[in-house]
Parts: sequence; structure tokens; C-alpha cells
Amino acid sequence: MSSEHTAKPENTKPGAEIAVVGGGLSGTLAAYLLGRAGHAVTLIDRHRNFPRTFRSEKLGPGEIEVFKRFGLSAAIAARAVPYDETVNIRRGQVVDRTHARHFGILYHDLVDAIRAEMPQGVRFVQGQVREVKAGARRQRIAIVGHEEVTARLLVLATGTGDTLRRDLGISRRIIRPRQSVAFGFNLCPTGAGGFRHTAVTLYGERVSDGIDYLSLFPVAGATRANLFVYRDRGDSWVRALRERPKETLGAALPGLAGAIGDFEVEGPVDSWITDIAVAENYRQDGVVLVGDAFQTTCPATGTGVARLLTDVERLCGSYVPRWTGHNVMTAADLAAFYDDAEKRRIDAYALAMADFRRRLTIGTEMEWRLRRQYHFALRRVLNGIDRLSPALVGKLRQLWGAQSRHNVPSAV
Ligand SMILES: Cc1cc2nc3c(=O)[nH]c(=O)nc-3n(C[C@H](O)[C@H](O)[C@H](O)COP(=O)(O)OP(=O)(O)OC[C@H]3O[C@@H](n4cnc5c(N)ncnc54)[C@H](O)[C@@H]3O)c2cc1C
Repeated sequence: MSSEHTAKPENTKPGAEIAVVGGGLSGTLAAYLLGRAGHAVTLIDRHRNFPRTFRSEKLGPGEIEVFKRFGLSAAIAARAVPYDETVNIRRGQVVDRTHARHFGILYHDLVDAIRAEMPQGVRFVQGQVREVKAGARRQRIAIVGHEEVTARLLVLATGTGDTLRRDLGISRRIIRPRQSVAFGFNLCPTGAGGFRHTAVTLYGERVSDGIDYLSLFPVAGATRANLFVYRDRGDSWVRALRERPKETLGAALPGLAGAIGDFEVEGPVDSWITDIAVAENYRQDGVVLVGDAFQTTCPATGTGVARLLTDVERLCGSYVPRWTGHNVMTAADLAAFYDDAEKRRIDAYALAMADFRRRLTIGTEMEWRLRRQYHFALRRVLNGIDRLSPALVGKLRQLWGAQSRHNVPSAV
């Protein structure tokens, strides 16, 4: 495989209008949208095909809707497993059922599905960026083993990697250290006939377990499990979950086998400890940060993809067109993106959701004990009404604020 791929002969020069560094979901989508709008774009990433990495593994209805707007839903659907009902269970009882189209899709499949749709005019350079220099007129990107790339605008989409941000004097402040631990693994049914439900969410049963929820859903060739807990990195339970997942899960969620049927854990248990971090001193000439490079998200909230979709859609759809034709890109010009009301709203919402979910799961103060009772009781009541009048429940849910524009999963 060649380390440099040029989709369109005209865009083979190292000078581009826009350079996107980092080809995860944010960077790949940004390059796709900018290329589609006719900009000369260079996308640079370490890997030609995104490696198998534990990140977001399903898309909700709001996210699917955005991908539809981007003209990507067919390409993504071809690699995803759709499902329409999620059964939400707590302490062995059904809380409610969520009816909405979701896609189960592993992160590398999602990123590669978008890369396969890359418009002509986007040049992909496979390589490790070792240094970036930004300024109002020209951005310089030094790539190991490649000629330097220059551009008018640099989009930094490097996820949690710190090195390049540091080159620019951009720092990262951890605002919620060790917020949560996420696990990802495959479950397979041991009984004949498979699992009882296609998709299930099981909430933690005891505050002391620190379990927010276990989400089971289909992806290509497997039933995937995402488990989100609030525990310390060195906790013996965290180690036990990695080493003896079936027994550890069974002890913490005794209703699991009853809810889905008998199971085995298959293959490795991926895990990830999240520190929520925000970029600081990011208002600079010539460079914008998107996705995790700007702010990381607690995976339990399911808002990471919604956040980055907003970043990319607002940047590529509203701001880059305004800057087209500018000879200089000052921090003051680029500030409009960071000050975008929709971006600020979803960034703040993701943080508020992270605090809410953590407290709802492990808060021991009277307020949170009551809110826990209220939260699940209200959902049970809404579930009862839903059977009689789905339209009324839709309105109540809107009032309750359970859905955001990008539809943070109602299952949580
Ligand atoms: C375990 C886990 C579970 C999650 N679950 C969910 C979920 O259920 N729902 C949800 O909405 N969100 C979820 N998220 C959040 C979501 O996955 C992230 O917000 C999203 O993947 C961030 O994408 P990104 O493109 O900003 O960064 P990344 O996907 O990390 O991409 C960064 C890219 O930059 C490249 N790069 C970095 N440095 C360099 C360099 N020097 N040179 C070249 N390339 C470089 C990397 O190779 C990589 O390709 C989860 C996150 C985690 C960690």
C-alpha cells in the first residue's frame, strides 16, 4: 500500500488550502465535507486504515440524521447493523423500551466507511506529523518521511494526543480526572436460539458497584457490550472485570443472564479510563481544534460523536465558507467558530451530562438518592403512558429535556 494517496491529480502539490491533521472521525469528516465543498484539502494521519480502537461503537437517531445530511448514511449503513428497539432493564424489571433506529458499528469501520467516500481533491498523506507551525498567513506541517505540507488553515483533529498542541502553545486542562472507566467486549449466547433481545441496557443495581449501565447491541458478526463504571483505575474490581469478565459481571448484575439468556464473554476486554480535558490557549492564528482535540467526553454520556459532529458541521458548513478568500486567518477571525452558540451549547451539555450521570449512579447525598428514585420511576410512568399515547410521551420527553438536537441516547 502506498504511503501517499492522491485522489485527484490537480491536488498533488504540498501546498493546500486546508490541512487536516488527524484522521479519526472528526478529521476524516472535516476533510470529507471540505473536499465536497471544493476546497483543496490534505488529510494527514498515521494510518491508512483506522486501526481497531475502542471508541464509540453505536450511532443514535440524531447522529444518523446528521450523517444523512452529509450524504454518508448509505455508506455507513452498509457496514453497520441496524436495530430499532432497546429494552432498558433495572433490577430485573423492564424500565421502558426505546424505539428508534440505531446503528451498531465499530469505530474503525465507521471511519473507514467515510474515508472510502472521500471526494476527489482530498489528498491523503499517511504519516506521523512531527511538528506544526501556525500563523495568520501560512501553516507548516512537518511529516516524518514526507515533504512539508503548507496550508492557509490548519484543522487539528488529533484526539487526545498532546505533542502537536504543545508545539502551538496550546495546553490541556483536566477538569474531571478519572471521570469513568469504559469496557468493551463481545458476548455470545451459549443457548440455542441466541439472545432474547437484540439490544438491551442494564442499569447498575447498587450504588457501591459504581455501575452506570451495560449496553448490549449488535455489530457486524457479534453482540457487543459497552460497560460504563465510576471506579478507580487501580480498583481490584476493574482488574477482575478484565480477568474474569463473566463471573464479575454476573455478580454485579445478577439479572443479566435472566434478561438476555446464558452467555460467554468472547475475545479481549478493552478498557479505557477517561479524564475529561479541555484545551486552553487555543485561540490562535491559523489553527482550529475539533473533536477530542478541543474537549474530551465521558463515554457513558454518549455525547462524544454528537459533539464532534457539531464541531465539524459548524466549522465546515458555516465558518470556512466565510473565511474563503481571506489572505490572513487571525485568531479574531477564527474566534467565531469557538463562540458558535450551538457548539458552546453541546460542549456544555456534554459536561453537564457527565456530572449528572456520575451523580445519578454513585451520588450518596439525599438529593441524589431521591433523584435516582424519581428518574427511574418517571421513566416507568412514561413507559406506561407510552403504550396508550406515544405522541403525548414524545411531548413529555421533550419537556423533560431527555433529547438534545443530536439525540443523546434516550436509553441512558
Ligand atoms: C472507550 C470510549 C468509548 C466511547 N463511546 C462513545 C459512545 O458510545 N458514544 C459517543 O458519542 N462517544 C463515545 N466516545 C467518544 C468518541 O469516540 C470520541 O469523542 C471520538 O472518537 C473522538 O474522535 P476524534 O476524531 O476527535 O479523535 P480520534 O478518533 O482519537 O482521532 C485522532 C486521530 O489523530 C491521529 N493523530 C494524532 N496525532 C497524530 C500525529 N502526530 N500524526 C498523525 N496523526 C495523528 C490519530 O492517529 C487518530 O487517527 C467514546 C470514547 C472512548 C474512548
